[in-house]
Amino acid sequence: MNELYQPIGTLPGVGEKRAQKYQKMGIETPYDLLFHFPRTYIDYTSPVRIADTENGEPVAVRCTVIKKLPPSFIRKGFSLYRVAVSDGISEMLLVFYNTPYTYQAMKAGEEYYVYGKLSGGFLRREMQAPQVQKVQDAMLLQPVYPQTTGLTSAMIRTNVLKALNILEQQPFETLPEKMRKDYGLMPLMQALHEIHRPADTEMLLQARHRLGFEELLQFQLGTLMLRHRADSQNAPKMEQTDLSAFYSGLPFSLTKAQKHAVDVICGDLCCGRPMNRLLQGDVGSGKTVVAAAAAAFAAANGFQTVIMAPTEILAQQHLRTFKSFLEPVGIHPVLLTGSAKAKEKREIKTQIASGSVQVLVGTHAVIQKDIEFSALGLVITDEQHRFGVAQRAALAEKGGFPHKLVMSATPIPRTLALIIYGDLDITILDEMPRGRLPVKTFAVTGGFRERAYGFIKEHLDAGEQAYLVCPMIEESDVLENVQAAESYAETLKAGAFSEYRVGLLHGKLKPQEKEAVMAAMKAHEIDLLVCTTVVEVGVDIPNATMILIENADRFGLAQLHQLRGRVGRSSIQSYCILVTDSRREDARERLKIMSRTSNGFAIAEEDLKLRGPGDFFGHAQHGMPPMLQAAYSSNIPLLSETQTAAKAVIAEDPDLSSPELRSLRTAVLQLFAKNGENGLN
Ligand code: ADP
Ligand code: MG
Repeated sequence: MNELYQPIGTLPGVGEKRAQKYQKMGIETPYDLLFHFPRTYIDYTSPVRIADTENGEPVAVRCTVIKKLPPSFIRKGFSLYRVAVSDGISEMLLVFYNTPYTYQAMKAGEEYYVYGKLSGGFLRREMQAPQVQKVQDAMLLQPVYPQTTGLTSAMIRTNVLKALNILEQQPFETLPEKMRKDYGLMPLMQALHEIHRPADTEMLLQARHRLGFEELLQFQLGTLMLRHRADSQNAPKMEQTDLSAFYSGLPFSLTKAQKHAVDVICGDLCCGRPMNRLLQGDVGSGKTVVAAAAAAFAAANGFQTVIMAPTEILAQQHLRTFKSFLEPVGIHPVLLTGSAKAKEKREIKTQIASGSVQVLVGTHAVIQKDIEFSALGLVITDEQHRFGVAQRAALAEKGGFPHKLVMSATPIPRTLALIIYGDLDITILDEMPRGRLPVKTFAVTGGFRERAYGFIKEHLDAGEQAYLVCPMIEESDVLENVQAAESYAETLKAGAFSEYRVGLLHGKLKPQEKEAVMAAMKAHEIDLLVCTTVVEVGVDIPNATMILIENADRFGLAQLHQLRGRVGRSSIQSYCILVTDSRREDARERLKIMSRTSNGFAIAEEDLKLRGPGDFFGHAQHGMPPMLQAAYSSNIPLLSETQTAAKAVIAEDPDLSSPELRSLRTAVLQLFAKNGENGLN
């Protein structure tokens, strides 16, 4: 029995309590632990002199213990343990509060590496609560793990060491020898060893490269397998049909980009294989009418279309728009959502089964359940920015293989889109309907906040509405952000905006609560909506004309662009105010780009240049598994290398069935299964 796959509790040194903590982090086995990679490393490779160091920045120092001062007990429950050390030239004090362990272990005359921030004056410098390692058995690049309460990096390091020992007895490899040679990748065993116990920086980089390569490769193999599978299926074959009645029913004529998109989509619908197309276009570029044209085309061919939206409000919004576009040609879209009464649902389902419903609009949750269509031809999903691989995998199977059109409002640079959406063809609406006023965007410092509030109030008084996006404290900490939003909203209610109706929207609200807030905003029962970044992207509130974003420098440009897209949805001039107190030149430069351009693709390209692709891969955004950020951030070559490798594999062995791909196949299936119930299996 392979010990690597036993419960984590079987690992020496991991008791029941610790095992539970590991499980909370999703680490069930020693194998999982080996893939729990360090977040960063403390670098002891180039220690500095005490005298050369400024206060504040953390540094590593190599030093000898001169003497241990007797512990001092300041007051009840508060004791100080101090050690005087010297680097051969100058001295300093190491100070530990309430934690005697390191102090007790240190010995006079012995050499140590210490790491921490220096403080104190010229005569008596101190390092508070430093990390300490004995020089003889020091790790010069010491891993720091993503941790959870009660599981320190030191504990994780010790446990990982044991797991590495097991690994040595049980060698395994996932990549074929030839691929490793071709791409210069170290063996998996070695990479795991180096990532947890790097010999030096060079080896660490190589290990990261190897592990990053494999993660990206798995992801791309998965999407290509999906693609391959869909391509080999039959789908409803439609005939070219005249859409001129549909066009003449519209209140406007299509842009060139829209016309082109409709042509491409109708071409797909006629070719007999399932369409898998992503329609990308900035907010307001007019994706809906393109989707409606496709639905009209399918209906003319006798096929049904479903439109799936992530939330109930979005579904209702779509129903209205699709009705306005399709009723002139005699198609009557029907809505099916969770809040419909049971009897009503039954009736609608009967109509769907009989074929009298040609276009059905609803939420994913409802539509993915057991609905029988008489002739489902086209599935349209409006995912805004939350479109995951998992759903793509699940959808691929829905009702045989209908045609699929995915609409996304997240502009992604083409190079990246090809990878993230490797299983989809991509069409871009790169042209805005005429007569749209770009949102006027300003970057200001906190000193202008009061004036900005005044400006917002003027517009609220004129009957318009505003969003106020709260400072993001820490991206990962939902709770802290929520608290910040709550207290920010309270402050505004009590102060600057006491005479207005202030609403609050944040990530901890239940889906229904969020919808209720958005519905109230839409009904103009709220003047000013204070929110974290959760504002539903797709919700169309033309009356909202102002958005103020606090700590704007903490957001990526693409994200700022998304947020800005909440306004500018009517013929009234809209404004976006970016507040930042950052003094960093690059931060300000970034925000200036926002004032200069309103083209989402241009902004996405800038973001890619400035921040690397990491942001585009967020788990929440694309359902892409969390990866070795470090390995691919700013690493476009790695992305294209893995794509080449994946394509070569799929071209030769589309189901990864050869024996030397067996473990890679297992890994790919697992990756996709984790992200959705059906996955690839
Ligand atoms: P999005 O791509 O963000 O989903 P919508 O489809 O909601 O954009 O379109 C935004 C607005 O622009 C809608 O009010 C729509 O009716 C309008 N619109 C779409 N296409 C055109 C066009 N070619 N000319 C004028 N207005 C258009
Ligand atoms: Mg839309």
